[in-house]
Amino acid sequence: MAYIILNKNHLFNNLDIISKSTKTRDKIALVLKDNAYGHGLLEIALMAKEYGIKRAVVRTSKEAEAVEDFFEYILVLAEVPILASDKIRYTINDIKSIDKFPTGTKVELKVDTGMHRNGIDMSRLKEAFIKIKDAGLLLEAVFTHYRSADELTSEWFWQKENFKKVKEISRMLADELGFDALRFHSSNSAALFREGSFDEDMARVGIAAYGCLELPKALCVDGFKPVLSLWADKISSRELKQGERVGYGGDFKATKDCIISNYNFGYGDGFFRVCADGYKTPKGIKIVGRISMDNSSFITSDEKLLIFDDARVVAKYAKTIGYEILTSLKPEIERRVI
Ligand SMILES: *Cc1c(COP(=O)(O)O)cnc(C)c1O
Repeated sequence: MAYIILNKNHLFNNLDIISKSTKTRDKIALVLKDNAYGHGLLEIALMAKEYGIKRAVVRTSKEAEAVEDFFEYILVLAEVPILASDKIRYTINDIKSIDKFPTGTKVELKVDTGMHRNGIDMSRLKEAFIKIKDAGLLLEAVFTHYRSADELTSEWFWQKENFKKVKEISRMLADELGFDALRFHSSNSAALFREGSFDEDMARVGIAAYGCLELPKALCVDGFKPVLSLWADKISSRELKQGERVGYGGDFKATKDCIISNYNFGYGDGFFRVCADGYKTPKGIKIVGRISMDNSSFITSDEKLLIFDDARVVAKYAKTIGYEILTSLKPEIERRVI
C-alpha cells in the first residue's frame, strides 16, 4: 500500500495564517469531516489539539465520538443525535427534523440563505424557533453556508446580505422567546479570506488548514502549504527493451531501452486511474501504462516514490478538485507524521 506523510509544520503554518484572520485560535472550528479530508481523523485531531484548536466540525456522530477528548466543542453537520455528550452540537438541517431531536439536545440551526441544499428557509425562521422551543432543544447558534465564496462573482455578497437579515431576525426571536444569546457563523475557508474584517463567532475552516485552498488569482491568499504527501515503496524493477510494452493492455510502449519500476500503490489506495494519462510526479518522473489496483509503474529505479505533494496538481489530471483527490485516499493507508 501507499503511505501518507503529514507535515506538522505545514499544518501549523496554515493555522497561523488562519488565526491571523480569525484574530484568535478560539474562533477556528477545524473541519474534520470525511477522515479530515482524507488526512486521517485522529492524526489531525491530535495535532490540532497540540496547536490549541478547541473546536471541530464533523459529519457524523461516529467522527464526533472519535475526537471527543481532543476538543471542547464539536459540531455534527449531518446527523440526528445518537450521543449524549455535553460537547457535541447537532445541526438542524430541515424544519421537519426538529421533532427527532431528544429534549435537551444542544442544536445549531442551519439556514438556507441561497445555496438551496440544506437548512431551513429564511422565511420560516420564526416557525423553526417556536418548534425548537416547544421541543425543549438548546439552541446555541444559527449558521449558513455560501455557495460561491470561492468564485469571483457578486453572489457571495448577496448571500452575506441574506445572512445579515437572518442574524437580525434571529436576535429578535431569541429575545422574544427567551433563548440565551446566540452565536453566528457562516465562513468556510474561502469566505474567511474574502472577508476583510472577520467579526463572527467562529469560522468553519477545512481546505485552507490542509493547505489546498483553490481560489481565483484576485482572491488568492499566499503562504499555505499542503500538509499531505503520498508515497509508495518499490516492489520490483526491470529493464525494458525498445518496443516492449507495460501493464494491462500493454498501453505503454518503450520508444527506447529504459529502466522501469513498479510501486506498491494503485486505484485500490484511492489514487485516480484516469491520472495514468500523462501524470508526472513532483520530481518529473513519468507514469507508464495503466494504473492497476495495487500496482503502478514509473520510469525510475528509486526505492521510494513521492507520488504527489499537492492534491491540486493531481486534481488537474483527473479533471476534479483537490478535495476529491484527498477524500478518496483510503483510511487504511498508513499515516506518518513528521
Ligand atoms: C465542508 C464544510 C466547510 C469547510 O469548507 P472548506 O471549503 O473546506 O473550508 C464549512 N462548512 C460546511 C457546512 C461544510 O460542509
